[in-house]
Amino acid sequence: MNSEDDTITAISTPVGEGGISIIRVSGDEAIPIVKKLFVGKDLAKVASHTINYGHIVDPKTHEEVDEVMVSVMRAPKTYTREDVCEINCHGGLLATNRILQLTIAAGARMAEPGEFTKRAFLNGRLDLSQAEAVMDLIRAKTDKSMKVALGQLDGDLSRLIRKLRQEILNVLAQVEVNIDYPEYDGAETMTSKMMHDHAVTIQKKIEKLLATAREGKILRDGLATAIIGRPNVGKSSLLNSLLHEDKAIVTNVAGTTRDVIEEYVNVKGVPLKLIDTAGIRHTEDKVEKIGVERSKKAIEQADLILLLIDSSQKLTDEDRELIKQTSASPRIIIYNKADLPAQVDVKELQSLVGDSRIIKTSMTEHQGVDQLSQAIAKLFFNEGVESSQNTVMVTNARHIGLLRQADSALDDVLKGLADGMPVDLVQIDMRRAWDLLGQITGDSYQDELLDQLFSQFCLGK
Ligand code: GDP
Ligand code: ZN
Repeated sequence: MNSEDDTITAISTPVGEGGISIIRVSGDEAIPIVKKLFVGKDLAKVASHTINYGHIVDPKTHEEVDEVMVSVMRAPKTYTREDVCEINCHGGLLATNRILQLTIAAGARMAEPGEFTKRAFLNGRLDLSQAEAVMDLIRAKTDKSMKVALGQLDGDLSRLIRKLRQEILNVLAQVEVNIDYPEYDGAETMTSKMMHDHAVTIQKKIEKLLATAREGKILRDGLATAIIGRPNVGKSSLLNSLLHEDKAIVTNVAGTTRDVIEEYVNVKGVPLKLIDTAGIRHTEDKVEKIGVERSKKAIEQADLILLLIDSSQKLTDEDRELIKQTSASPRIIIYNKADLPAQVDVKELQSLVGDSRIIKTSMTEHQGVDQLSQAIAKLFFNEGVESSQNTVMVTNARHIGLLRQADSALDDVLKGLADGMPVDLVQIDMRRAWDLLGQITGDSYQDELLDQLFSQFCLGK
């Protein structure tokens, strides 16, 4: 059984990337363990928070493994609030792994995914929403999602939730007092009025937070976007121009059955997760022949559809069909090849697409792409990206779920009061709201939740 008292070790930098790798060791034995492998100053005697030059040597064979810098940080001012040693080595998979193995041979245990952060939480350095923010940071796809995650790491969300909980606690306390010492006959009426008013204000604040969730989810997961249109309208060209415009982020999503490569482009702070680009890639243009079935599926999955029309040709039945199929989805119609003489019947096009925005582009002349980007950003951040920069945003699915439950617990409070239920019964639902909010910050938490949560982390965090 793994214990919370073990000293743990892991490679905490992405394997195979960058010139330097870090092996992090945390726990009571961190310094003695690394000391066994280190030739240089006596690590047991160096001051805390110092970096020490030396060599890692295999204590059995006396073979030198790598030239290293070792940071020694003593509790409590460390990430885990335990003693921490970080071995900065030159990298290279072999040397890094070898050092990791040596720390294990010297008495450390391989850390579970997220275990460093779990310890930071258990030792009171981070609260739950902050720990989750660490995870979000690792995954953050654009500057803006980075900011939201950093804000949470900073405790914005936690502060807000704690305030709400305090507010509920005050109400519960007052109810308690009024029930125990009814000064006069009207106490019950007064108490239920007070409870009603507070439930309403607290609920408003929760709902305001929930309203940020959609935006937050998009920032976190990306906006699933499908580029649709019949062959030769310019889909590949649009894809390329988006990819060139704003450096694409290609993510390798592990754990899926096929090893799916997801592509993200950052459009004015909105991460677009491009659906099924394999069908659009020129190299796989043969795939486009089975386009109709494929686009149906893409349309179903998409949060946003970019539908291209070739303006240098008359509308075809296939165009009309695609316009019809996408009519229920958020979409932008792209009137492409605007550099060529127009053949398309603009009136017909307008009547077919209804309210949907039409943007004129020329992929070959690289025109209209910026307007397109602006239209996308506007569609998803109503008043532009800047406006919501300072608000606390809920981006995490678990937080959203708990807020919804708290919201409905407050619904029950209001319903109970409306039905004339006695206050001491209604307050049970109020308490439930208080509990649910506490699960966001981890002020009330269960062990399984913790294990499940921290296991989502990358190893070494
Ligand atoms: P897809 O089949 O929908 O992916 O379309 P492509 O992007 O492969 O483009 C088909 C052809 O149209 C290519 O020869 C492109 O160079 C050309 N094309 C794409 N966009 C434009 C445009 O805006 N103007 C002109 N004149 N040609 C374009
Ligand atoms: Zn193509």
